[in-house]
Amino acid sequence: AAPKKVCVVGSGNWGSAIAKIVGANAAKYDMFDTTVNMWVFEEMVNNRKLTEIINTDHENVKYLPGHKLPPNVLAVPDLAESVKGADILIFVVPHQFIVKVCDTIKDHIKKDAIGMSLIKVTSSLLKRFVVIQHNNEMQSFHLFLLDLSEECEVCSRVFSCEFCGYPSAQGVDAGPEGLKLISEVIRGKLGITMTVLMGANIASEVAEEKFCETTIGCKDKTYGPMLKELMQTTNFRVTVVEESDVVEICGALKNIVAVGAGFCDGLGFGDNTKAAVIRLGLMEMIAFARVFCTECPVSPATFLESCGVADLITTCYGGRNRKIGEAFAKTGKSIEQLEKELLSGQKLQGPATATEVHQILKQKNMVEKFPLFTAVYQICFGGHPVTEFIKCLQNHPEHM
Ligand code: NAD
Ligand code: 13P
Ligand code: CA
Repeated sequence: AAPKKVCVVGSGNWGSAIAKIVGANAAKYDMFDTTVNMWVFEEMVNNRKLTEIINTDHENVKYLPGHKLPPNVLAVPDLAESVKGADILIFVVPHQFIVKVCDTIKDHIKKDAIGMSLIKVTSSLLKRFVVIQHNNEMQSFHLFLLDLSEECEVCSRVFSCEFCGYPSAQGVDAGPEGLKLISEVIRGKLGITMTVLMGANIASEVAEEKFCETTIGCKDKTYGPMLKELMQTTNFRVTVVEESDVVEICGALKNIVAVGAGFCDGLGFGDNTKAAVIRLGLMEMIAFARVFCTECPVSPATFLESCGVADLITTCYGGRNRKIGEAFAKTGKSIEQLEKELLSGQKLQGPATATEVHQILKQKNMVEKFPLFTAVYQICFGGHPVTEFIKCLQNHPEHM
């Protein structure tokens, strides 16, 4: 068979780290075409194009400085061009860009391509009724949350008009219609088979080739061996499981818990308290998966994979969501401002996921069953004081 062509769609902190692994394996195995395209959102860094820096110096100096990429990873600025001919598409962009990415590549991908999402966030079918001043006229639209690019005062998102990109407007929730996973959003837009990869994988540590594990969620077992071959190295060990939705839900929900762990650090609580945040957070993750995965099994064993308890632990100690949670508790600055100040262009997923999860829980009358998820949302965006965080632990249904 012809060697499989791989494209990494995205080149941030994790996108670049995974390109290092995929690039090395594509060079090593005959099964894969050696050249791996990596779509890079073009920007100028030190007066040079980022793609040109990557293609000559083989380093993403902005998002993964200090690590060389294999020379067979080719940075491509044109998104539609980058995916041409690819048999395997690895989606690793911050969530706010995924809808636009899908719309752009829709007519350029192979019909039988296989997708893999590394994006850790949920996307509800939350629709917003948005009023936009556009060409001096007020116009209203129903937009999906994911079509909205930036931040607003009400819920931390500013909307831009889907049609002309005109920013501004205030959103009013029209009510959620249920939980939607990013892999489903991608499958819905592109009509391809989707899989996911999630695990305890802080990008910089993976790039340093420190030992870790990860989980591939793949409903159709026949793709498992090929995807494992593409991803596994001596120090990046892969387990393939069939409960793909649970894997994906774990990846998204643990970021909410990590913001809570950050609050805990910022407020000066000790290791015992943080362990309680992690455990109670895990219990809420399991309960949430049980409520929302109605069409597939939710096995306790999946939470014991790297995507579950291990990712939760690493993110609560070393992740960006934890870091911002801590800074939020210490400084009182907004999440949005801290993301800009502390992450050098990298993006946070936890607070956005907390917002989506909260909307869904509210609509289902289940807020009391998820006090930790709820507290993170209310503290980030609802004006509740961060010192209140301990209350969600003291009054947790796990102890009633
Ligand atoms: P990141 O947080 O480093 O985000 C920066 C990326 O966003 C850059 O590639 C930049 O080019 C891109 N970008 C900025 N503006 C853009 C625009 N207007 N249009 C398109 N792209 C734009 O990204 P990341 O760390 O690679 O995260 C991607 C996903 O991977 C997230 O869902 C995250 O949860 C997940 N993840 C991250 C890590 C990690 O340690 N960083 C680990 C595992 C999973
Ligand atoms: P953060 O986005 O909080 O850095 O988490 C990274 C991650 O997902 C590690 O597996
Ligand atoms: Ca090869």
